[in-house]
Amino acid sequence: MFTRRNFIKASALITAGSLIHPSSMFSQKTNVIKTGGRSRIQLTFRPFEALLRHPFSVSGYSRTTTPIVFTEVMYEGITGYGEAAMPPYLGESSASVIAFLQKVNLNQFSNPFELEDILAYVDTIAINNTAAKASVDIALHDLVGKLIGRPWHEIWGYTASKVPVTTFTIGIASEKEIREKTLETAPFKVIKVKLGTDEVTDKMLINTIRSVTDKPIRVDANQGWKDKHYALKMIEWLSDKNVEFIEQPLPKHNLDDMAWLTEQSPLTTIADESCQRLEDVLRMKDVFNGINIKLMKCTGMREANKMIALARTCELKLMIGCMTETSCAISAAAQLSPQMDYADLDGNLLISNDQFSGAKLVDGKVTLNKEPGIGVRKL
Ligand code: MG
Repeated sequence: MFTRRNFIKASALITAGSLIHPSSMFSQKTNVIKTGGRSRIQLTFRPFEALLRHPFSVSGYSRTTTPIVFTEVMYEGITGYGEAAMPPYLGESSASVIAFLQKVNLNQFSNPFELEDILAYVDTIAINNTAAKASVDIALHDLVGKLIGRPWHEIWGYTASKVPVTTFTIGIASEKEIREKTLETAPFKVIKVKLGTDEVTDKMLINTIRSVTDKPIRVDANQGWKDKHYALKMIEWLSDKNVEFIEQPLPKHNLDDMAWLTEQSPLTTIADESCQRLEDVLRMKDVFNGINIKLMKCTGMREANKMIALARTCELKLMIGCMTETSCAISAAAQLSPQMDYADLDGNLLISNDQFSGAKLVDGKVTLNKEPGIGVRKL
């Protein structure tokens, strides 16, 4: 007999069985599962490997691929898309993200508009796992935006035309490669440079770029300068070379020295590794001049939007950044960009096998479209 209890059991089996084979789950037709007449939210996921156009080197490591996990949430025949991107230094992997997602039971929720409660639950499943959490957050936002029929920047009341110009990042490379990469930055109005190795290399990078273009440069040291006096010397050297700001010059926990450096620095300082989540924002006041918000660090769009409000209260400048990720996560981050002073959303342009089409680069800006949710279509 097919009682309600048996039906719940059968639904649980579909979910549990699929969890064993995440890739097969992706194509499963379980869009509408109703329990007691109420629709339920279904989560599926699959691993993916993003291939980099060029090997990417920053202070400390180099790589040619980035592991990604794609998520989908389905509700009443509508699908929301999400993504977790895991650069190795953040400590997450495809295996850890899949292990986390296997614990997420969205099936207990029947109203996707209850984003606050659903995502608060997701955050309590385990500590850290911020990219895995972001993949659920992004997919749910995409779903809810589609159910409403509006993109998130409109739902939040943000003005699409206010998106700032975005940077294109040049990693650590040889002089010849830097010259070639600088020429590739033609569609961009601002260049981002990764420094933080040694003085000779850092100065070679800047001088080589300056031999090709006088476009503004934003510098990211990725915690590479270990001493505050050395960092100040480098910042002073950079300050007459049309550099807009310096991101994360010192190791992330060294906040006392960082406060001193910000006080002395002729350039604006921006926190990246030092500021991961909402709880870190208050601590950044008087330590940096601004913060770099990334969805993969802060668990997604919901918390990123809260960080904006708090950072503004603390008079911190705002930057939206990204990992190497597809147009799915980039378009989700772009929804927040009208509120930003600076954007660094080139992650999708660094890979050769994008799986989505979404926010596009127009006149040096990652430009928002009118599509609902996060504004993406699967390629
Ligand atoms: Mg950074």
